Amino acid sequence: RAMLLEGKKVLVTGASTGIGRAVAIGCAQHGADVAINYRSDDAGAEEAIAGIEAAGRKGVAIKGDVADPAAAGEFVAKSVEALGGVDVFVNNAGICPFHAFLDMPVETVTRTMNVNLLGAYFMVQAAANQMVAQGNGGSIIAMSSISALVGGEFQTHYTPTKAGVLSLMQSTAIALGKHKIRCNALLPGTILTEINKDDLADTEKREYMESRVPLGRLGQPEDMVGPTVFLASNLSEYVTGAAMLVDGGAFVNLQ
Ligand code: NAD
Repeated sequence: RAMLLEGKKVLVTGASTGIGRAVAIGCAQHGADVAINYRSDDAGAEEAIAGIEAAGRKGVAIKGDVADPAAAGEFVAKSVEALGGVDVFVNNAGICPFHAFLDMPVETVTRTMNVNLLGAYFMVQAAANQMVAQGNGGSIIAMSSISALVGGEFQTHYTPTKAGVLSLMQSTAIALGKHKIRCNALLPGTILTEINKDDLADTEKREYMESRVPLGRLGQPEDMVGPTVFLASNLSEYVTGAAMLVDGGAFVNLQ
């Protein structure tokens, strides 16, 4: 029986750690060849590639800062050179430096916007142009967040970027529908990664977050694999412009 992503070429940004790495390896385990973008963590990128190769698939790591608009074209071009095309693009790279609103440093705001939102914009545009040129459609998936739907006291610079990438998927779904390119957003709840390690080192906070999750635990990066593979695969061929929460039920648990 063919694997769900058999023969597909998948690109993932920010994949030397966390959700990106799990998703890159997970896609390989479902049959895809995978190119990853990473900013600076050579060792993490090597681990991701080792995981992809252990699944028997081709893996390539390409260094680049997604905040640099030139990195997008470069990532896509080098991925095409290595894998032969792009069928699935996962925009995952992101930062979330927690800070209070009233004295938020200007550079923290601009960096977060540049990485999370502008970086996504130019990456998605470059991937879409490649898919259009190939003429076989494609699937674009953005790691948005539950934070696209709810506020965060120390995330006033971050939540607008996550609402932004959700909105980007809604608009590109319309712009790219005629090319059979599907665009969807995944909205993770709290997934245990580097991004929230310091914040969740506070035991009280962590226990509170856990208590809010109907499924009784915080997420692991591997929890993002199934939903990503679903949206990447032909199983979701009539799904575009959609937003899928992957949060153990946290969002609906308001009482
Ligand atoms: P993480 O810190 O492990 O992963 C983020 C990755 O992005 C890192 O590998 C980092 O190096 C990379 N990155 C950051 N800036 C970059 C840049 N300028 N260029 C290239 N790569 C860059 O954290 P994670 O939790 O795995 O985050 C992955 C995505 O999931 C992020 O977009 C994040 O906003 C989103 N998300 C995470 C959670 C969560 O609870 N962990 C919840 C909702 C959404």
